[in-house]
Amino acid sequence: MGLPDERTDRAAGVLLATATGDALGAGYEFTAPGSDAVIDMIGGGLGSFAPGEWTDDTSMAVAIAEVAATGADISTGPGLDAVAAQFVRWYESGPADIGVQTSAVLSKRPASAEEMRSIAAAIPGLKGGNGSLMRTAPVALAYLGDADGCLRAARAISLLTHDDERAVEACEMWTYAIRHAVLYGTFDGVREYVAGASTGARDYWTPLLDRAERGTPADFPNNGWVVDALLTAWWAITTTDATGPEHLQRALEQAVRAGHDTDTTAAIAGGLLGARWGASVIPARWTRMLHGWPGYRAVDLERLAVRTVGGGDDLEGWSSSLPVD
Ligand SMILES: [Mg+2]
Repeated sequence: MGLPDERTDRAAGVLLATATGDALGAGYEFTAPGSDAVIDMIGGGLGSFAPGEWTDDTSMAVAIAEVAATGADISTGPGLDAVAAQFVRWYESGPADIGVQTSAVLSKRPASAEEMRSIAAAIPGLKGGNGSLMRTAPVALAYLGDADGCLRAARAISLLTHDDERAVEACEMWTYAIRHAVLYGTFDGVREYVAGASTGARDYWTPLLDRAERGTPADFPNNGWVVDALLTAWWAITTTDATGPEHLQRALEQAVRAGHDTDTTAAIAGGLLGARWGASVIPARWTRMLHGWPGYRAVDLERLAVRTVGGGDDLEGWSSSLPVD
């Protein structure tokens, strides 16, 4: 799918700002920086990450994008199997940080998407962790020309590890909104998804989104849960000054200030912020530091995003908008 330059920048922004939020939040995971804290890419955190290093959120997003970039339909069949296989490949790399539910599924090393989904479904107890929402952003890039396919793929990939309807709805909503932002440059996709959802989903999400737009992080404190994670990201996006591209940086820092699962809430916010504002507005001092599994840096994420949109097209005519060292 050919895109004009500003849409290419926004498509690249989806992966770049996911990684930026992730690496920014990594050093603050399970802390409470508070509303006045200065936030920067300090590294550290639970996985002893280097400054600028992204964590499981971005690595799993990369795993999805690598398959989508081949042109495969990642919503079903061999394409979905290939996504499952990439998740296992990442798990085999011995990541420093991995969510509880995701670990419980991938440690069984399922050999197919169907087997992975079955293992996820058999996990007892609460299954609505934020681990499928944190990685869903690249799904939007694979389906810029197909809104229904975008929703199908978001659902199928969420269910690989998270057998929970709210997690599915959150992934559908956010992926739909990211697709919408790349195409049209607005955040309207969040409410548009909800308006078109089932009555049950609409009645559930509408008052929560309203509350996020007016509330504080204390209103959704359990952001390891997919619902509060989405609301934290939406709070950060909608309660910071959005009149110019500096909004991206401001809202990422705000997501981290909310505390707790900071790399994930900022990664989730980053997927949508990057889709709205583009890769070129991310501060260069941050993009220069970015790195992570599988040995990638910012320019590799940018190329992967372009390939994901193109579905296997080559990169002829594409040139990076990132600063050169
Ligand atoms: Mg993480």
